[in-house]
Amino acid sequence: MNANDLKQTLVERKAELSERQERVARHTRHRDEPLPPDFAEQAVELENAETLVALDREMSQELRQIDHALRRIETDQYLDCEQCGKPIVEERLMALPYATRCVQCATES
Ligand SMILES: [Zn+2]
Repeated sequence: MNANDLKQTLVERKAELSERQERVARHTRHRDEPLPPDFAEQAVELENAETLVALDREMSQELRQIDHALRRIETDQYLDCEQCGKPIVEERLMALPYATRCVQCATES
């Protein structure tokens, strides 16, 4: 996976998350309106305001990780583990595009 592919994946994921976050925010403001169809499977849980807040927090966190990963691509550091400096294997980045640490460091912490 090269930097462009990875960047593309991250940018798409970011757009998707931003849109979902926007919808959650809208739903929180207008709770009497029905959920959009693609939220149907989560509808039961989403009816709970606390779950919505948790979901929103989760998405914000992932967005921050994505931004961080995008900056690492810009500075050409995206293949280096943030913790030990060893290369992050390609399979890991494909599974988790915003990974900033190698498998070993991520498992240890
Ligand atoms: Zn490491």
